[in-house]
Amino acid sequence: MIQLKPIQSELKNWMQRNENFKENYIKIKNEVLNDPQIKEFLSKHPQLTQTEINKNLIKLYEYKSQSKQCDQCSSYGTCNNMVPGYSPVLHVENNEIRLTYEKCHSRIMYEKEQEQQKLIHSLHVPKEILEARMSDVSNDQSRIRAIGEMLDFLDQAQTKLPSKGLYLYGLFGVGKTYLLGALANELKNINISSAIIYMPEFVREIKSSFKDDSTNEKIDFFKKVGVLMLDDIGAENQSAWFRDEVLGSVLQYRMMERLPVFFTSNYSLKQLESQLATTKNGVEAVKAGRIIERIKQVSRVVQIEGHNRRL
Ligand code: ADP
Ligand code: MG
Repeated sequence: MIQLKPIQSELKNWMQRNENFKENYIKIKNEVLNDPQIKEFLSKHPQLTQTEINKNLIKLYEYKSQSKQCDQCSSYGTCNNMVPGYSPVLHVENNEIRLTYEKCHSRIMYEKEQEQQKLIHSLHVPKEILEARMSDVSNDQSRIRAIGEMLDFLDQAQTKLPSKGLYLYGLFGVGKTYLLGALANELKNINISSAIIYMPEFVREIKSSFKDDSTNEKIDFFKKVGVLMLDDIGAENQSAWFRDEVLGSVLQYRMMERLPVFFTSNYSLKQLESQLATTKNGVEAVKAGRIIERIKQVSRVVQIEGHNRRL
C-alpha cells in the first residue's frame, strides 16, 4: 500500500509523456509524409504497404533530416550529417524500405585532393612555393625560355615522362624555386609524383637517417620518385661522401633509368664543378667532374635572368 502513491504518480507521468509522445509522433509522421523527396519516393513505390511505411517512419525521418548530396552544406568540412561526407539513399528491397549511405560529391572531391597532395613530397619547401601555379608564371618575359621548356616537359609527360629535366641557374631571388613549385603542381594534376628537396636539408636528412638505419630506404626514394627536384644545389655543406655515395648514386640510377631531375642553383655548371670539388678531402676535380657529367645526362641547362623578387 505504501508504494501505491508513487506508482500512481508514475503512471500519471507516463500517461502524460505518452500523450506528448503521441502528439509528437503524429507531428513527425505528417512532416515526414509531406516531405517532397519522401513523397516522390513513396509515389515511385506504390507497392509499399501502410504498415511498412509506419514501421519505417524513423528511417524516413532520418532520411529527411540528412543533407542529400551536399544540398545543405557547402563543403565536406561543413557537413552536418551523422557520418560526415555520407549521403542517405532510400530504396526498396523485397517490398521493404531500406536506408543506406553513399559518399557525397564533396567527400569524393576531398579524398581525390588528399590523394593528389600525397603526390608531391616536399621536404622543407615554403608553403607559397607549394601553391605556385604555372598560370601565374607563364607571362613572365624574363623567364620565357625556362617556362617554355617546362611547358614542353608537361606536354610530353602526358604521354611519356621525358628523360631530362632542367638545370635552372641564376641569381638569388629570380624565382627559380618558385618555378619548381609551379611545375610540381602541374605534374600533380596529371598524377605524376615529384619530390622537391632543398639541398642543405637533403644532406641533413641523409645524415640523420644513420640513427635509424633508414639511409638506404631514403636514398632509394630519391632514386625512384617520378620527378626529382633538387633545390639550390651547391648551397649544401660539401662532403665527399654525400657527393659520391648519395648524390652520385642517385644521379647514376636516374640516368640509367632515364628519369628526369630538375635542379636550381646560384651557380653555372662550371662554378658548381669547382664547388663540388672542394671538400675536407682536398680538391677532387675528377669526382666533381663525374657529377657534372651526370647532371648533364639528366637535365638541360637554362639560365634565368631577371630581377631579385625578394627585394
Ligand atoms: P630563387 O629560388 O631564385 O632564389 P624564389 O623562387 O625563392 O627565388 O623567388 C623569390 C621570391 O619571389 C619568393 O618569395 C617567391 O615566392 C617570389 N616569386 C618568384 N616568382 C614569382 C612569380 N612568378 N609570381 C609571384 N611571386 C614570385
Ligand atoms: Mg631558391
